[in-house]
Amino acid sequence: MFENAKIWTFDRERPTAQAIAIEGNVIVAVGDRDAVRDTAPDAERIDLQGACVIPGFNDTHAHMEREGLKTLRPSLAGAKSVGDILARIREAAAIIPPGEWIVTMPAGTPPFFFDGVSSLAERRLPNRHELDAAAPDHPVYIQGVFGNWGKPPGHSGLNSRGLELNNIGPDTRPRVGGVKIEVDAQGIPTGIIVEHNNRPTVEFDILPAVPRFGFADRLEGIRRSQRLYNAKGTTSIYEGHGSAAETISAYRRLWELNELTIRAGLVLSPSWNDLTEARRIMRDWLATARGSGLGDRWLRVSGIHIAYGGDPVVACCARAHLPDTGWSGFVEQAVSPSDFREACFLAAEFDLRLHTIVGDQLHEIVPVLRAVNERHPIAERRWVIEHIGRARPEDIRALKELGIYVTTISTYYLWKGGSKYLNEADGGNGVVPHRAILDAGIPLAIATDNIPYDPFFTLWTTCAREERSTGRVIGPDQRLDAHTALELFTAAGAALTFDEGWKGRLKPGFAADLAVLSDDPTTLPPAELKDLSCLLTIVDGRIVHDVR
Ligand SMILES: [Zn+2]
Repeated sequence: MFENAKIWTFDRERPTAQAIAIEGNVIVAVGDRDAVRDTAPDAERIDLQGACVIPGFNDTHAHMEREGLKTLRPSLAGAKSVGDILARIREAAAIIPPGEWIVTMPAGTPPFFFDGVSSLAERRLPNRHELDAAAPDHPVYIQGVFGNWGKPPGHSGLNSRGLELNNIGPDTRPRVGGVKIEVDAQGIPTGIIVEHNNRPTVEFDILPAVPRFGFADRLEGIRRSQRLYNAKGTTSIYEGHGSAAETISAYRRLWELNELTIRAGLVLSPSWNDLTEARRIMRDWLATARGSGLGDRWLRVSGIHIAYGGDPVVACCARAHLPDTGWSGFVEQAVSPSDFREACFLAAEFDLRLHTIVGDQLHEIVPVLRAVNERHPIAERRWVIEHIGRARPEDIRALKELGIYVTTISTYYLWKGGSKYLNEADGGNGVVPHRAILDAGIPLAIATDNIPYDPFFTLWTTCAREERSTGRVIGPDQRLDAHTALELFTAAGAALTFDEGWKGRLKPGFAADLAVLSDDPTTLPPAELKDLSCLLTIVDGRIVHDVR
């Protein structure tokens, strides 16, 4: 029993409380101190000294597996010069057996790496010769930035062994545009490759010898991710972007080992090349992913992600390396508008609920949904529209009529990538229009997209809506108060996995998933939300994080 707390329950019948009692993995009482003591007289009493308690965060577009993978590679964070990077490479060379690859994280400041090579005094990566001197017995690869974290271009660097193993010479030509292999005055590659694509293609296209994340890495990555997400108060995730078969199998392995400390809802990421394959693959997936899917309270697989748009050359390059998916964790897709329409009809026919990322194209997707709905009513199926950028009022009304669920990424659209919305005629109130979506009565949940994975950062971007470089507010009318944002980040996500009847709210009979915060978000100015921390996290009645 926790008492002397400020509890936001998100239970409409009892929105606030001072005490909560847990028995096993279930909440047995919530209320004022005396009432909870009466219900659970023998419970161990823990004084929270006024701390704030919320249901655990449910990160509904999490890309969780990436966070742990980042810790598997040596970091270059804090390096201020080529010399500093070479020192890190020498350190790695002293540990890693000769002949094996040294693969590092990018140059720049994590988690965004916005400064990239400009964080270095020389404003460039070390070249092949400098890397050769630091690690003469190892192939070396400094990876470029993954565009979803920061901003292209990404700079990657290889030493001579690394170049040789990938057969990179003066005549190497990338298949994918936007990649430049730097050469010296004699036309010989310097070891530095610059890529302008948001989803880097360089490894898939011209670096086949660079080690991939294998199954064991993904498994260990998720283990580490869970600890990191738990430490921020996250107790559930939903992978609305879809997960490749290998990613799903890594989650399944941890489920078998009883090692999950985050409840995971997964969505299939398909690998089809065309609609004929799509029909066959969807038919085969009925067994697992139809309707509310297959799983239990820890792991559930349901529905598919179908992309709208995408570059066919990039998708083809990436698919050739399956089961490896690099940093994505999902299968790169390139789907034309007409194929998207057909694939949506197929998804409805097979009752595989659709997830799609719309960006500013919601107005192009809505007519497709309407057409599907004429033949296969989609209300009650919980189809999910993700990453809404610009949305017109008539399209928001349509989402309500169709019974669509929505998830959004404030950090990506408003803070990190908000510069393109600074001069909207309506002041940005049509961009990620949280207020309008809620007022329309549409089920809405918010998410981090792993940029960064810290839910407090997303709480801030949702409430403040400030653009990164200017600090200007995009769409002031669409700012949410912290209490509303918290509900969208905790209770609201449960419906995405059909779990709203037993998790996401602090009420008797519900799962004992909760987080104790350093302060009450509802009393802080928005700018301070991002500095919150999590003192204690409980999932299924078990403490998974505790720094009280
Ligand atoms: Zn995503």
